[in-house]
Amino acid sequence: MQAIRGMNDILPDAVHWWQMVERTAREVLELYGYREIRTPVVEKLELFARSIGESTDIVEKEMYAFADRKGQWLALRPEATASVVRAFIEHNLQADPLARKFYTIGPMFRHERPQKGRYRQFHQIDAEVFGIDDPLLDAEVMIMLCDFFQRLGLEGVGLHINSLGCPKCRPLFRDDLKQFLHQRASQLCPDCDRRRHVNPLRVFDCKVDRCREALAGAPELVRYLCDECARHFEKVQAYLAGLGVAFTVDPRMVRGLDYYMRTTFEVVTDRLGAQNAVGGGGRYNGLMRDLGGPDLPGIGFAIGMERLILLLQQGHHLAAGSPHVFMAVLGEKPVLEAFRAVQALRGAGIAVEMAYGGGSLKSQMRRADKLAAAHVVILGEEELAKGVAVVRNMKEKSQAEVPLSDLVEFFKGHILAARGQTPGFGPTPSK
Ligand code: ATP
Ligand code: MG
Repeated sequence: MQAIRGMNDILPDAVHWWQMVERTAREVLELYGYREIRTPVVEKLELFARSIGESTDIVEKEMYAFADRKGQWLALRPEATASVVRAFIEHNLQADPLARKFYTIGPMFRHERPQKGRYRQFHQIDAEVFGIDDPLLDAEVMIMLCDFFQRLGLEGVGLHINSLGCPKCRPLFRDDLKQFLHQRASQLCPDCDRRRHVNPLRVFDCKVDRCREALAGAPELVRYLCDECARHFEKVQAYLAGLGVAFTVDPRMVRGLDYYMRTTFEVVTDRLGAQNAVGGGGRYNGLMRDLGGPDLPGIGFAIGMERLILLLQQGHHLAAGSPHVFMAVLGEKPVLEAFRAVQALRGAGIAVEMAYGGGSLKSQMRRADKLAAAHVVILGEEELAKGVAVVRNMKEKSQAEVPLSDLVEFFKGHILAARGQTPGFGPTPSK
């Protein structure tokens, strides 16, 4: 049996990258006032069709949709925004003044052609904010994104921003764009030739070369913005610049979901080939109302975790967690006492591994070496009779006898000392 194409196992050797990224994401998001929400991976198909848009790639060809045993149409979620908005409406979270900023981390599903950085099950870190229209928030959302990437030490990424206008100014642009595409119809790919009628903005999202070329000289949305949208966009840029955040205005960036309006943004890299977007998002003020909820503005983004981790891994190594102590036991008699000591150490927050099934001291030391344990505690019958254990420091190759009753204190002290601290003095440093 094999896993489904485009759906990956994350093996223990890679999983600590995932844990580190998730830990950092939670830290940063919570600093900015976001609270976690978890929604199901399966929803009614209609939720995504109505929010993402019927004529988007995601809904037209990428969704895992199926009828359940009762004939109800369901889908594996291709993104998280629609679900978070649905949950907000369904549980009337508007009534809770603390419930404005949300985040969720988990798997998404799209039936795409698998390649590096593009999978059928992938994972996103997703953030959403409801009820705030202030351009200050748009800037803060992007600044948080940059803050997160900075803390991870991510290099070679750029922030691209655009404004998609609003239902007031976009129709004018749409008409002009339609006209423009009509003149270039013969140069467009078959998909875009159809798109230019049903959803002309989508043509900007096409990755086919000749469509990109056909768009040379196309009208640009930023020139069509109404006063309100233009002011909003100016303020967003002023706040970003005022906080020293570098960005590029990309008038061609439309994003692949229909619900966006005004501010849209993407974090792009030149280090992952064709898969150049690490994350993206934007404002979606009409979405909650369209889904039957209160008319609250919204803004959010999603980061692709696979792409992010691919980038972080380039040329870097993250050590897997090794046990601080390996317990070696000689003979049958000391096993129970050793097991008690192991549990006492774990109880004090010290990672311990032991040799199951005993074996010679040599074989147990080999195992400790493979695990890269910092110390080995050796307990044989002789030591047991004396109430001590032998502690070997694997790096310094030194050895000492420690009373069994002092083991926990010994290692606690040792861990603090290794962090450059005298035990019992001052706060514990975080690294
Ligand atoms: P792309 O243009 O690369 O298809 P997208 O616009 O479809 O991206 P979004 O829907 O904005 O992507 O999702 C946000 C992020 O999720 C992307 O920037 C990307 O990092 C990640 N992502 C999207 N689709 C996939 C996928 N099939 N496999 C892995 N990561 C993905
Ligand atoms: Mg896509």
